[in-house]
Amino acid sequence: MSQASHVPPATASVMERFDLTGKAAVVTGGNRGLGRAFALALADAGADVAVLARDGSRNAAVVREVRARGVRGMHREVDLTVQDNVQQALDDTVEEFGALDVLVNNAGVCVHTPSMEADEAAWRAVFALNVDAVWWCATAAARHMAARSGGCVVNIGSIAGQVALRPQAQAAYDASKAAVHQLTRSLAAEWAPAGIRVNALAPGYVRTEMAAVDDPRFRRRWIDDVPQQRCALPEEIAPALVFLASEASAFMTGQVVFVDGGYTAV
Ligand code: NDP
Repeated sequence: MSQASHVPPATASVMERFDLTGKAAVVTGGNRGLGRAFALALADAGADVAVLARDGSRNAAVVREVRARGVRGMHREVDLTVQDNVQQALDDTVEEFGALDVLVNNAGVCVHTPSMEADEAAWRAVFALNVDAVWWCATAAARHMAARSGGCVVNIGSIAGQVALRPQAQAAYDASKAAVHQLTRSLAAEWAPAGIRVNALAPGYVRTEMAAVDDPRFRRRWIDDVPQQRCALPEEIAPALVFLASEASAFMTGQVVFVDGGYTAV
């Protein structure tokens, strides 16, 4: 195995470098919010897409949208905080699609608990999904990728993994995303010889169920603190995901890419 197989030919056009036709992708937490936008963007770029999340009816709805784009779609109802589930779901994907080329580690959870309350269960729940499951998914996927000619992993980080946000009582979330950023760098270095690239995409505030962007109490956080003076739609983050998942970023690994309206620039 070598990275040579993933060096695009010099003659490839820019659009060809973004093309994911024939690639098989997994999006964890792909049934709503950012994950749904990522699943649909990958399908737009030509990839077959598997959605892994707990709510089967929401999974199925996104898979219908994926298939409407002319590619294959599948889903598994899976709680990713159970390690055996992760291995099984990724094995199922490889069996159905015949390969696994792209893993998007998107599923995540945020809890708001004052640290002095030392809510250990909340801390563990956040780390179980945001860190443990990311590592389990990445390692299970990498074994499949390494057995072929490589692939790429995109971990979804956050501005919260880079800078301290205004007090939000979400220290566990912030620490978990910092762990995702460093895990990205470590796995990138370890797996580069196997032709596996690992990068992180770190969004700023995005309008999803996780982020209460319509709550007027948080206007200062969502809008005034952001140089571009707004939060984003999931569809504005997805093009960067396609970049990191495709040969357009063939010479990038171990990077954390912020798409945040300038939040981490100031
Ligand atoms: P949502 O809360 O809208 O979606 C979370 C997704 O994760 C859902 O698809 C959910 O599906 C899935 N999920 C949750 N728990 C589990 C579990 N135990 N097993 C499997 N799947 C699970 O979040 P967002 O779309 O906002 O966030 C997506 C990612 O982006 C997260 O990693 C988040 O930290 C990150 N992010 C978000 C930002 C924002 O402002 N929105 C900013 C920066 C980063 P189901 O419940 O059906 O299992």
